[in-house]
Amino acid sequence: MKPKIYFKTFGCRTNLYDSQVMQSALKDYEITSDESQADVVVINSCTVTNGADSNVRNYISKLEKSGAPKIYLTGCGAHTKGEQLLKEGRVAGVFGQSEKQKINKLLQKEEGFYEIGDLEFVDDAVVGEFIGKSRAFIKIQEGCNFRCSYCIIPYVRGDARSLNEEKILRQIERLASNGFGEFILTGTNLGSYGVDTKSSLAKLLKKISYIRGVRRIRLGSIEPIQVTDEFKELLDEPWLEKHLHIALQHTSPKMLKLMNRRNVYKQDRELFSYLKEKGFCVGTDFITGHPGESEELWQEALENAKALHLTHLHAFTYSKRDGTPSATMKPEVDGKTAKRRLHQIEEIVKEKNFEFRKEHANVPLEVLIESKKGEFYVGYDQFYNPIHVRSSLDLIGNWLEISDYTVQKECNYADFEV
Ligand code: SF4
Repeated sequence: MKPKIYFKTFGCRTNLYDSQVMQSALKDYEITSDESQADVVVINSCTVTNGADSNVRNYISKLEKSGAPKIYLTGCGAHTKGEQLLKEGRVAGVFGQSEKQKINKLLQKEEGFYEIGDLEFVDDAVVGEFIGKSRAFIKIQEGCNFRCSYCIIPYVRGDARSLNEEKILRQIERLASNGFGEFILTGTNLGSYGVDTKSSLAKLLKKISYIRGVRRIRLGSIEPIQVTDEFKELLDEPWLEKHLHIALQHTSPKMLKLMNRRNVYKQDRELFSYLKEKGFCVGTDFITGHPGESEELWQEALENAKALHLTHLHAFTYSKRDGTPSATMKPEVDGKTAKRRLHQIEEIVKEKNFEFRKEHANVPLEVLIESKKGEFYVGYDQFYNPIHVRSSLDLIGNWLEISDYTVQKECNYADFEV
């Protein structure tokens, strides 16, 4: 009988993708979704903050208490904490992202190992299936050339490099012929795709859109300066989701400087207005409580946020990451204040999202149903807004066009029968 293996994935979509690649590369193990049944656990870790490191440690402690399967560590945390955990005997082996396709062989080593690989590798994995999901995540690049002062990612994922275009296209062709219609492009700094290969995100998007079966393309997070003129020419294409996630991180010009960001608030506002005219929903990442965020700067940031066309938000309170410039910046903001600010900005964006949905209530929604929760099927429309659908049919994985729906504060609702 093959040993049972469980994957615990922390962090971002890139990690989700990497876990998928590892699962496809395993031959001598049986993948289980039941952690308690596992003989082996692979932790695909995240190290984005000190808190993320603690989550991994806490998880290892939990496994140790529960009868200790064999534990292996990979992902970004392998670079920062792997050596120590191996020395402490808490994991049986550590391997870097570049080694993930060798997982089957690595896991059979009898001795403890530390195979961190290199930070310049370019992924060439082709994943053919994403079991149980209606959408497929496609990694198109790795690493980041930016050096935001709070972020450790460039040090653990390396500089930006693009994955091979042919392989990306072949992967999507394969998935599309297996019935996948929606593709979500991901990467550490997605919008820098092509900077090293004389290509660009826009060029790649066009090529993907020509593939038979590709119905909708969604993008992970891009940076404001990556919305180039060439990219703007695609905004009316029917296959591009009418939602972009553009990472601002802050809306106070002074804070943006402190955070060593490349975006400038005034230009961000112009860009977001332009996207509003084009009928897009726009989301962003936002960090509250970064050192130096005085009450005065926060109030300015809030006013600036209110002036933005912002419908979706992924907000975090700042969490210190040792080894980054921000970790030594002063004055720090206490956790309670950072949380209060987070809730304030969340409320503003929630309200703006509701307004957007009310204003667009006559627009038919193109929905891909992904799951069922209680009595409702749950899917996302072209604006990346969730909708709850009641139906006597089995709708999972289906595309629906819904013209008749109710807009409520938390989300949209509809009934669907044929
Ligand atoms: S853009 Fe900034 S926040 Fe994003 S990965 Fe690069 S350095 Fe980190």
